[in-house]
Amino acid sequence: MPDKTLFEKIIDREIPADIVYEDAQCIAFRDINPQAPTHVLVVPRKPIPTLDDLTEEDAPLVGHLFLVAQRIAADEGLTGGYRTVFNCKADAQQTVFHIHLHVLGGRSFSWPPG
Ligand code: AMP
Repeated sequence: MPDKTLFEKIIDREIPADIVYEDAQCIAFRDINPQAPTHVLVVPRKPIPTLDDLTEEDAPLVGHLFLVAQRIAADEGLTGGYRTVFNCKADAQQTVFHIHLHVLGGRSFSWPPG
């Protein structure tokens, strides 16, 4: 068995996290180093390393992650909008190789991103 990812350890409750939502397909918890008043990571239970590892069979799962992001935004009262981000590999500064959707809100963001 390959080593568990950090996020699998959170899913398995081996590492604590501030979990805000979970279901059969994913878990969502607050980022330990928040970049906005709301910064939640939506993480599939399936440990897919990067967006480049997605296959056609993962399409419903990825759609589900966005619906969970929508729900979290509503729960967090992000009526003015929010940003969702998947970082993919080195140029995007991906640091945890278990895909996760960042949900950021509670402030206004600039574009282009840094
Ligand atoms: P990325 O750079 O897109 O791979 O994002 C990884 C994110 O995971 C970063 O925003 C980190 O702050 C966050 N992170 C790392 N360790 C933890 C942890 N133990 N609990 C919650 N978030 C974490």
